[in-house]
Amino acid sequence: MQVLYKSTRGNGKETVTASEAILKGLASDGGLFVPTEIPKLPCNLADFADMEYKEVAYNVMKGFLADFSEEELKSCIDKAYDDKFDTKEIAALVKNDDAFFLELFHGATIAFKDMALSILPHLLTTSAKKNNVTNEIVILTATSGDTGKAALAGFADVPGTKIIVFYPKGGVSLIQEKQMLTQKGDNTFVVGIKGNFDQAQSGVKAIFGNKELEKELLGKGFQFSSANSINIGRLVPQVAYYVYAYSRLVKRGEIKCGDKINFVVPTGNFGNILAGFYAKQMGLPVNKFVCASNENKVLYDFFKTGKYDKNREFILTTSPSMDILISSNLERLIYRIAGNDVNKNKELMENLIKEGQYEITADMKKELDDFYGNYASEEETSKAIKDSFAKTGYVMDTHTAVAAAVYKKYKEETKDDTKTVIVSTASPYKFARAVMTSINAQYDKKSDFELLDELEIVSKVKQPRAIEEIKNAPIVHDTVCEVNEMESVVKKFLEK
Ligand SMILES: *Cc1c(COP(=O)(O)O)cnc(C)c1O
Repeated sequence: MQVLYKSTRGNGKETVTASEAILKGLASDGGLFVPTEIPKLPCNLADFADMEYKEVAYNVMKGFLADFSEEELKSCIDKAYDDKFDTKEIAALVKNDDAFFLELFHGATIAFKDMALSILPHLLTTSAKKNNVTNEIVILTATSGDTGKAALAGFADVPGTKIIVFYPKGGVSLIQEKQMLTQKGDNTFVVGIKGNFDQAQSGVKAIFGNKELEKELLGKGFQFSSANSINIGRLVPQVAYYVYAYSRLVKRGEIKCGDKINFVVPTGNFGNILAGFYAKQMGLPVNKFVCASNENKVLYDFFKTGKYDKNREFILTTSPSMDILISSNLERLIYRIAGNDVNKNKELMENLIKEGQYEITADMKKELDDFYGNYASEEETSKAIKDSFAKTGYVMDTHTAVAAAVYKKYKEETKDDTKTVIVSTASPYKFARAVMTSINAQYDKKSDFELLDELEIVSKVKQPRAIEEIKNAPIVHDTVCEVNEMESVVKKFLEK
């Protein structure tokens, strides 16, 4: 049967194709699109060991993207996973101490979002073509730093698209700002706003919701879309690297085909770990998904008690991409453990909006056996970086360190010695200050750029191209505007 998509909040009769779901992003009832069934792996598990990354990706994704032809999907994959990545492996699996680190940070912005955002533009433009959409797709994004750059890098110079990124001027790190302001590509536009991230996000939402503007721009051949992490066009490509990691362990003789392994995933919005869960539904032998949180430990509390509660202090940590109180992709899991019950899911999500919390039933909680949740404090995270470096010389970033610290707790608690993959989501170069001061507090005296050179010496890992570029590339974006000028700035850019 061909996989279609339906909303987690809809009546279930309304289904759309994969390409329609990618174009729409969010279902019109506010729910998230989920596949009507999870496709099974299309070949024997053992076969994957002989495939390169792109081939694995094709075989994993094709079942989900059923209305894409072989040629269309392969073309998207070829354009995404090319020499923008600094390793031919695309996702490198590195043994360190008692685990395998799946390095998802070899792409353009040295963090895991590149895995999905390098292919999303191509999935989106292909979806537009398939649905006879001839308008140019305009991506609008508000960013607190990381996603913006990954989206810019993904969409830069992709024909048929334009991308506009708003960020809070003064509200992102110097390196993050420089990364965005040096972004090449005639179709890219970066704007600092005189306001905070919330204002940037509200401004973007207002533009999305402005029907008059929508009509005006349609008349000029433009339509808006979002690169948001709830788009299935971001979720599906992520399923591939779970299968890939498993197949590398088989290939290297670390496991026998069919053996179960664990994955530890540093989690924020729950997109990455959910992709892993989908891989398991496809038939990948997985024992546990260890969900690792930082001090914003909503998910740890949820797995422990069955109660999701976002009413708490928001803590700024050294793993900022996981500083999240509403994990939006969790809705897809809730829907599933509710037995695909739209009404139950809707009730819980409405409670989340109204009261900032919800509690699942005992029966639903029983369905969470695939997961184990825990969290790492700032101190534990920093210690994980220091200990790994002292023991093996391997330097990990802060997000990965949260996962490593949680893995240690998991092992102590469960005595489970199943082979384990730690999903490594960012290069240490991206969070050099927190990483280097974890190794030695003395480094805090150095400048950001000095720290990059020090990190190279300490880690013996060459500075990635993304870092070289920040140092040398010219600033090409300099637009700054007031919050209430965002709409006119968008129009002006589109008129160019
Ligand atoms: C986005 C991000 C995460 C969290 O991933 P989710 O899919 O949101 O759970 C973890 N680490 C890094 C470096 C990220 O950029």
